[in-house]
Amino acid sequence: MKGKIVKGISGFYYVHVAETGIYECKAKGIFRNQKIKPLVGDDVEIVVLDEEKKIGNVEKILPRTRELIRPAVANIDMALVIFAAAKPDPNFNLLDRFLCMMEYQKVPVTICFNKCDLVTEEQREVLRKIYELAGYELLFTSAKTQENVEKLKSVLQGKMTAVAGPSGVGKSSLINDLQDAVQMQTGGISDKIERGKHTTRHSQIIPIAENTYIMDTPGFSSMDLPGFSKEDLWTCYPEFVRFEPGCRFIGCSHIGEPDCGVKTALAEGKISQVRYDNYVQLYQEMKNMRKY
Ligand code: GDP
Ligand code: ZN
Repeated sequence: MKGKIVKGISGFYYVHVAETGIYECKAKGIFRNQKIKPLVGDDVEIVVLDEEKKIGNVEKILPRTRELIRPAVANIDMALVIFAAAKPDPNFNLLDRFLCMMEYQKVPVTICFNKCDLVTEEQREVLRKIYELAGYELLFTSAKTQENVEKLKSVLQGKMTAVAGPSGVGKSSLINDLQDAVQMQTGGISDKIERGKHTTRHSQIIPIAENTYIMDTPGFSSMDLPGFSKEDLWTCYPEFVRFEPGCRFIGCSHIGEPDCGVKTALAEGKISQVRYDNYVQLYQEMKNMRKY
């Protein structure tokens, strides 16, 4: 049977098979045959050893479309980053760090500003100005009034999405809303997943509709990616990449150099000041930490 690894804990892999549920599997022989370690998100073939007890063995890892380092997961199609439009006000520095991590790993991102019931149209416009200029898809949702929750579902449909965001922004509320439909269809799907609850938090995938999964990625905002250097930072700003051809110097950092296409675009209002300031701050931070 084919399924997807939704969780891995100390040598056990929990494999979700559409229709039949979750199987607790070992991966005997996999490393010997394929020389790779199973990852959460992997599509696999399993052999069921005991249908009653839902126990099996992972026989084969199917080819990966993508493999992330942070978080360690296979086959992610996109990332959804959730911040509150207000209460708490969005921390743009944290948001930009997250966007950079995803850009560097070439994962498309949708930004979701939740609690939009608490802000005016003008306040939404401020957020649009910053992130639509940068080229990101934005969604304004409210778990409270359900505004755009259906839209969010349709954005996620058919994909596997890593969901991230600081606490207090309504992430759990939104995830609960997304899950409702499936709880009814598959009843008790989370029983087996819940078992490992008290061990340290691992990345875990939640099936939310047919062929649709979300992965809750607990707190990652560090820029600690192997090989990532301050010279790479501007390449993680899609709007900088657009204007960089206008820079006189190859390897322009877009900070102190003259004839810089990025700074010209900034002066013309084609790049947001908030994004640029965060870039400079992150760049300096990476410069001060020797390892970058
Ligand atoms: P998490 O820490 O990001 O998982 O946030 P929670 O889902 O636990 O929500 C934090 C608080 O914000 C709770 O008191 C929620 O009731 C509230 N909240 C969540 N979503 C919304 C929203 O869309 N609008 C408003 N006004 N409050 C919300
Ligand atoms: Zn430049």
